[in-house]
Amino acid sequence: MVEYLPRSAWNARPPNAGPGNLTASHVDGAVIHWPGTGSTKVIHTRTAVASALRGWQDYHMDTRGWSDIAYQIAVDQEGRAWTLRGMRTKSGANGDADVNDRYGAILLVLVTGEQPSAAMKATTRAVIADFRKLYPRGTAIRPHSAVRPEPTDCPGDPARAAIARGDFNPGHSEDDDMTPAQMQELKNFIEARTQAYALWVHKQLRRDLTAVAKAYALDIKNYERQTDAADAARAAAAVWATAPKNLAADAPAQQEPQVPDPNTDPKLEDHALDPFPPVEEAKAEEAK
Ligand SMILES: [Zn+2]
Repeated sequence: MVEYLPRSAWNARPPNAGPGNLTASHVDGAVIHWPGTGSTKVIHTRTAVASALRGWQDYHMDTRGWSDIAYQIAVDQEGRAWTLRGMRTKSGANGDADVNDRYGAILLVLVTGEQPSAAMKATTRAVIADFRKLYPRGTAIRPHSAVRPEPTDCPGDPARAAIARGDFNPGHSEDDDMTPAQMQELKNFIEARTQAYALWVHKQLRRDLTAVAKAYALDIKNYERQTDAADAARAAAAVWATAPKNLAADAPAQQEPQVPDPNTDPKLEDHALDPFPPVEEAKAEEAK
């Protein structure tokens, strides 16, 4: 969303009768210009830009005899957008009636050797997006030098290179301006993430397969255990059937060991071991 400063922001003079509006069906795109000051003195502050715009308007109207400042919109290095003729009015900047009929005209407030700032590029992209809303088939973005019938250096090498890179294309992301090292870093990051994901999928599969294999192994073990037990029982029964009949009866009974009870007297049934054997009185009478 671009906020366009009005003509009053640069104290514009009213225009004279001009060329009228662009016809959408004629419009091929937008042409990029610079003022061509022939100086390296930058024009950055709002006041400096406003003053420069007013000076160019005076020059175009008073010296060249045009109806108004020649361009439609200006964009400065701080990212401000300025209404000049406005997007609907044909420009007088592109070179002749034909190219003024087929192209809009955007002025980048750049001086000799100056690179367009990120703010200038972002605002210019937004301005061009607005331009395309008015002129849907006008998608070209061209340097003035590419359309002017006579040679021109406009809009200067840095802006020409920026156009060639697509820096002013709506939707252009500054991510595309990565250095080769940053590009490689991003590539490495994506590869690492991809590998990590593949490993994760592999581990998930292996875990699931391991669970299935474990369950299957347990099933087999249970089956084998049950089968062994049944076989063993059958084998034991077969052996038992061939054994002598009294084998079980003759087997010595297992006896629990006797634990002495301290609360009762021991029963001494073997009198021979009794130190005080009872006297047999009847036998004693007979002996008298
Ligand atoms: Zn130009």
